[in-house]
Amino acid sequence: MARTGVLIETENGGVKDTSLGVLTAAAGGEIYALVLDTDPAGVKDKLAEYGAAAVVAVKPGSGDAGTSPDLAAELLAAAIKEYELEALLGTASAVGKDLFARLAALLDKPLVSDCVEVNLAEKKVKKSHFSGKTFATLKVNADLLLCTVRPNAVEAVPAPAAGEIMEFTSDAADPGLVKVVEVKKGAADKLDLTEAPIIITGGRAIKAAENYSMLEACAAKLGAAVGASRAAVDAGFAPHSMQVGQTGKTVSPKLYIACGVSGAVQHFAGMKTSKVIVAINEDKDAPIFAKCDYGIVGDIFDVVPVLTEKL
Ligand SMILES: Cc1cc2nc3c(=O)[nH]c(=O)nc-3n(C[C@H](O)[C@H](O)[C@H](O)COP(=O)(O)OP(=O)(O)OC[C@H]3O[C@@H](n4cnc5c(N)ncnc54)[C@H](O)[C@@H]3O)c2cc1C
Repeated sequence: MARTGVLIETENGGVKDTSLGVLTAAAGGEIYALVLDTDPAGVKDKLAEYGAAAVVAVKPGSGDAGTSPDLAAELLAAAIKEYELEALLGTASAVGKDLFARLAALLDKPLVSDCVEVNLAEKKVKKSHFSGKTFATLKVNADLLLCTVRPNAVEAVPAPAAGEIMEFTSDAADPGLVKVVEVKKGAADKLDLTEAPIIITGGRAIKAAENYSMLEACAAKLGAAVGASRAAVDAGFAPHSMQVGQTGKTVSPKLYIACGVSGAVQHFAGMKTSKVIVAINEDKDAPIFAKCDYGIVGDIFDVVPVLTEKL
């Protein structure tokens, strides 16, 4: 059976939900979950529940992979060789995008990033192009498939496996080209927009920065992150880090609730692959109603508080 590696991302000692989706995307082969930064004993059960046959703690002989992405890429390259992996999958997160690009350059192999479907048996992946207007299926003609999967694009499905703990120490040297000196984290109680399973977004209709508290109250009930359209960001109602769209973040939650967003193509480019889209807009002819699964014609300042109360 083909061996597939999955780079696991952790948070507060636990496996990120988005990594569980990547394990499901890797189903079909014997899955080696590669853990760079956490004690594998603490994550073994979760990874085994979602299909990991092996949970490998990948460690450097010397140096700190946490502050050297080049060393982390060297470790992954060594693990691919050690376990004869035919593919390595990861999340198209900030970390995944960084490490996989370094890894592909290091190994001189092709990389397909931000995929929404993976067919390992045929080495085919699906990803969106031209701001989400088209989807392309790509066949990778290489002995190693390197790919990152868009967060939440593949729903995590339990598939119990052995989850045997292994340890692999590589003597790879740190090229020392880049050193991470500081990581500034967002507010601890706020979900990362790109990885959130539910997002509620406020558009220009939100009218003022303080009105986002209305969406935050609803988000707290839903376990959601709060996003913004570019019009809202340009008006100074929200920071750019909250912007969804072509020039903002690409998201793919299970549920996307757009409040007072017209549905411009550039906004859709960033959230088109959401599983269920709900729109609240007072204009029944707003373009977003042609693209959503459920629509509510109404004033967001009437509808959202009622929604929050019902939740
Ligand atoms: C190169 C380029 C890149 C871009 N990148 C992005 C991007 O990344 N993300 C992005 O979002 N946009 C982007 N845009 C801008 C995009 O074209 C739109 O201008 C923008 O998405 C509009 O934001 P909006 O829907 O919030 O505002 P509007 O288009 O002004 O829509 C506001 C909507 O709110 C409704 N409304 C008003 N009041 C209420 C109320 N009280 N209750 C309910 N509904 C109400 C209105 O009916 C309207 O439909 C980009 C544009 C360009 C040219």
